[in-house]
Amino acid sequence: MERRRFDVVIVGAGPAGLMAAAHIPAGLTTAVLEKGPRPGRKLLITGSGQCNLTAAGDIGEFERRYGRSGRWLRPALRNLTNRDLVVFFERRGVPCTMTAEGKYFPTTLRAGDILDALRGELRRKGILLQGDRPVERIVPVERRLVVQAGGDTYETRAVVVATGGKSYPQTGSTGDGQRLAAMLGHTIVPMRPALAPVIPKKHPLAALAGTSCEEARLTILGDGKKTSATTGPLLITHTGFSGPLILDSARAIEPGDTLRISFVTIPRDEFLRDIAAAARGRGAVAVRSVAKEAGLTKHLREALIVAAGIDPDGRAADLSRDRLAALADAFCAFPVTVKALGGFDVAMATAGGVSLEEVDPRTMMSKIVPGLFFAGEVLDIDGDTGGYNLQAAFSTGALAGRSIKI
Ligand SMILES: Cc1cc2nc3c(=O)[nH]c(=O)nc-3n(C[C@H](O)[C@H](O)[C@H](O)COP(=O)(O)OP(=O)(O)OC[C@H]3O[C@@H](n4cnc5c(N)ncnc54)[C@H](O)[C@@H]3O)c2cc1C
Repeated sequence: MERRRFDVVIVGAGPAGLMAAAHIPAGLTTAVLEKGPRPGRKLLITGSGQCNLTAAGDIGEFERRYGRSGRWLRPALRNLTNRDLVVFFERRGVPCTMTAEGKYFPTTLRAGDILDALRGELRRKGILLQGDRPVERIVPVERRLVVQAGGDTYETRAVVVATGGKSYPQTGSTGDGQRLAAMLGHTIVPMRPALAPVIPKKHPLAALAGTSCEEARLTILGDGKKTSATTGPLLITHTGFSGPLILDSARAIEPGDTLRISFVTIPRDEFLRDIAAAARGRGAVAVRSVAKEAGLTKHLREALIVAAGIDPDGRAADLSRDRLAALADAFCAFPVTVKALGGFDVAMATAGGVSLEEVDPRTMMSKIVPGLFFAGEVLDIDGDTGGYNLQAAFSTGALAGRSIKI
């Protein structure tokens, strides 16, 4: 059992903790304590291992991507903008590339390069990074904070808690930071999976798992009333629906809600007019050919025809008005009743966490415990897919690190 002294202790070596370490003012002794054997385990799987680190857009656009926490994040996003983030990595030998949809990745498409750049920065600054150090308690003692981890004790002047949320717990984020914060008197907004797939009560499209639709439209009907409608890429999975369209809408979806999915870009009335004209004009042609113009994969088209209760081999010209309407509903207003949202094992982010009301957005310091800072997903912040969660982790980490003055 060791007793050591540092000016700063950072709890958690994810993107937020590592970026905080990279921004600690020169001259301060710093230790990063990581629960797992290695840093950045979640960072390495971001963007399917390619790491979508941020997105194009101005601060206003970014703020809109974090729901109600967007305004709170403004000082952090200004302190380290998306442009600053790209420059940070490019200066450390990791060129970044923007995709046509405005997403930034390391040009090598290797999340490991982002992690290596951060680790290199810590080495350059002489910061100690220790694995297998699960922090169990933080105790304020006079004007110091005592951090207990794996039998060792660290006495320090400032602590940054950057332990992440609760999603993908195998990567080390299991809600420890929220427990540590609660022990110190912080309010924890109940945590729930964010960016989670939808699991429907019935899934007639399960056989199409892996099929995606470039531009689908989702309408959420809470209490039978339309609450919102958005468009974006949709993915059919073996348990339900995912992809950016669903994940980004998940925070507005509740079990029991009814959803309507349109797999085509044109409005239902127009689609109905088109298929009715095609059915009339093509006589003996089979139903499956009529919906070809919709531009979907053959399997998805056929599954939607079957879901409408229609035989794809039947003659298009025999379709009654009602049958045509049912076909239009299947393509343009496919009904889904939500059984559940995917849990923390599949959600890509966590909503809830340390309440923002008790943390100063200009410094990331606790309003309750002097010298205690928070950064990243441990806070009650969740953003859309597309690089917004990593940008939030990096921006809050950088601001926390820079704000430490001893
Ligand atoms: C599959 C997947 C893909 C994703 N892809 C993207 C993407 O492409 N773009 C994007 O913007 N976002 C993406 N995200 C979200 C993004 O990864 C997270 O928002 C981000 O990692 C949060 O960073 P963080 O540093 O706050 O927390 P984490 O990355 O969770 O890191 C927290 C660290 O703290 C450590 N820790 C926990 N408890 C303790 C303790 N008691 N003591 C010491 N250490 C502790 C953990 O082991 C972990 O290393 C993805 C998420 C998932 C699950």
